Amino acid sequence: MDYCSTRGKKNEKRLYSAAEAVLMGLAPDGGLFVPAAPWPPVSLEQLTARSYPGLAAAIIQPFLEQFSAGEINVLLQKAYGGGAFDHPMVVPLHRLTDNLYFMELWHGPTCAFKDLALQFLPHLLHAASVKVGGNSTTVLLVATSGDTGKAALEGFRDLPGTKVIVFYPLEGVSEVQKQQMITQEGANLHVAAVRGNFDHAQAGVKALLGDRFIADRMARRGLRFSTANSINWGRLLPQIVYYFSAYLELRRTGAAGPAEKINFVVPTGNFGNILAAFYAFRMGLPVNRLICAANRNRVLTDFISEGHYSRNRPFYRTISPSMDILASSNLERLLYELTGRDAARISEWMRLLRKEGAFQIGPELKKAVGEIFWSHCADDGETLNLIRETYLHHRYLLDPHTAVGLAVYEKYRSATGDSSKTIIAATASPFKFAESVVGALLPPDRIAGQNAFQLLPLLAEATGLQIPAPLQDLDLLPPQHRTIIDKDGIRGAVLRYLDLEE
Ligand SMILES: *Cc1c(COP(=O)(O)O)cnc(C)c1O
Repeated sequence: MDYCSTRGKKNEKRLYSAAEAVLMGLAPDGGLFVPAAPWPPVSLEQLTARSYPGLAAAIIQPFLEQFSAGEINVLLQKAYGGGAFDHPMVVPLHRLTDNLYFMELWHGPTCAFKDLALQFLPHLLHAASVKVGGNSTTVLLVATSGDTGKAALEGFRDLPGTKVIVFYPLEGVSEVQKQQMITQEGANLHVAAVRGNFDHAQAGVKALLGDRFIADRMARRGLRFSTANSINWGRLLPQIVYYFSAYLELRRTGAAGPAEKINFVVPTGNFGNILAAFYAFRMGLPVNRLICAANRNRVLTDFISEGHYSRNRPFYRTISPSMDILASSNLERLLYELTGRDAARISEWMRLLRKEGAFQIGPELKKAVGEIFWSHCADDGETLNLIRETYLHHRYLLDPHTAVGLAVYEKYRSATGDSSKTIIAATASPFKFAESVVGALLPPDRIAGQNAFQLLPLLAEATGLQIPAPLQDLDLLPPQHRTIIDKDGIRGAVLRYLDLEE
């Protein structure tokens, strides 16, 4: 399968191989890479009774025709078969009630769903660079709202032919997330805190990816940029797999009948995870509704209900920091699909978004969005409340992002009365956000004056759960990365790290 950009002129459509799309990350015209061919249909009956890597192979093979089945199996075994995930199913399903399930996406080495993609992407990228030949070093630029950064550092650590540069918002990540990133070891890694938010970091990274001048200088030095953000196609592709695996698990246990349509609820920020669910739907997964759960930064909720996207609004820091995003990059890919792949319209909206911070879609397209998506939001108070309630009633502990998902699901149920089976994406381990989670369970005097790392054992003791191994003794590791830069300092930092200074 070939790939094209979501932007650009119709008659000048250039096609790229999968390897090129993954290596470049962002298309030269600033658009995102998307499959140029129709979505390959999947036969659900042929997928049952496969291991996670086996299922992944069947789903992603058609997207990576350049690679043989044998090559793909090797990549998938490295990603999912080598014990990086602490559960044999990789993505286990937890039943809350007869209608409601959580797919636990946090059993990987960094305790958030990003591992599902970032345990795979480095191997794919390495194979892609062998495919295209040459011996360039790929420099992965990463803007993170907290979880992508650590997952990328862990996935690419000491991988030959790669360097990783991560930018995270200085005040915008949890204590655990920050400690995970700044203590990361690896000779090919850089991490810098930005005085700004995720949107600033992502804008800085996107600008560099499209900077021809730097690209030329890099090429002369045998370097090229890519990205490990979900703007990279190689991030989205492996995320399609778990929507199938969760659905097949419902079928296997008899909880869902043949062709029974189900809902997915996805706590959303950059619109990557829920877009993968939409792609699964386009490939034949029986989906009733995709429910997009937002926190107080409700830019997507407003877009889905009103057809008007505007990031001209206050930015809030919340207890679900990985969703504190106002510029959701992957929405561009959804609009591309729902407009019948109309790159000219996409270019115009993205131009408006850049220039005026907003764009409006027409009534027909808004209707098409509303046929499959539903969205609402939950604030921090509602989030904490649901963490407490769910623990009291079900003895199941949610992280704040997942709790936003449950809060929005409850709103969906009362607004629509729809009782279809529903799977909520549990996107992070509650221990990763212990400082918020503990506050939902324990009285203030038990937690007063304790830092996030002292709260981890307290949370374990209060719930009888184990602290995930990757988070144990994290506070004892020495910091490796102390750089702090201004939000317009991203370019300069990258030039410094790469020894490309003018
Ligand atoms: C990244 C992240 C999200 C948001 O996912 P997107 O793909 O950016 O929409 C939600 N929850 C957690 C815990 C995350 O790390």
